[in-house]
Amino acid sequence: MPSPQDCIFCQIVAGAAPSTIVHEDDRTLAFMNIAPAAPGHLLVIPKAHATDLLDVPSDDLAASARTAQRMARRVVGVLGADGVNLVHATRPVAGQTVFHVHLHVLPRYLDDTIQG
Ligand code: 5GP
Ligand code: ZN
Repeated sequence: MPSPQDCIFCQIVAGAAPSTIVHEDDRTLAFMNIAPAAPGHLLVIPKAHATDLLDVPSDDLAASARTAQRMARRVVGVLGADGVNLVHATRPVAGQTVFHVHLHVLPRYLDDTIQG
């Protein structure tokens, strides 16, 4: 597991790695996924490093959920998504590949080909 010093999402928070930020507040950041599964696929993170759902303080989890709801409203209202999946993976067996806790805000479209 990477330490915060070499965590790519901590580097994005610090402005040391590039990203397309779409929302920022005191606790959270939302930015475009570098490999979107659908147009408008966003990631929401707490700014403070935590590894996963088991580890994240409840205040940061609540703030991240609020930001995810804002982003879901935005992808529906602005991008015209027909629905949204809110996705999270804790640990590799569940599909986690970046070990800074994050929520995927995945816009869904009537004609998309995403399974599930
Ligand atoms: P996970 O697989 O852990 O649920 O999700 C990690 C997500 O982070 C993946 O969808 C991947 O495309 C995205 N990702 C990985 N590295 C970067 C990066 O450097 N910048 C951005 N914007 N997204 C990243
Ligand atoms: Zn981090």
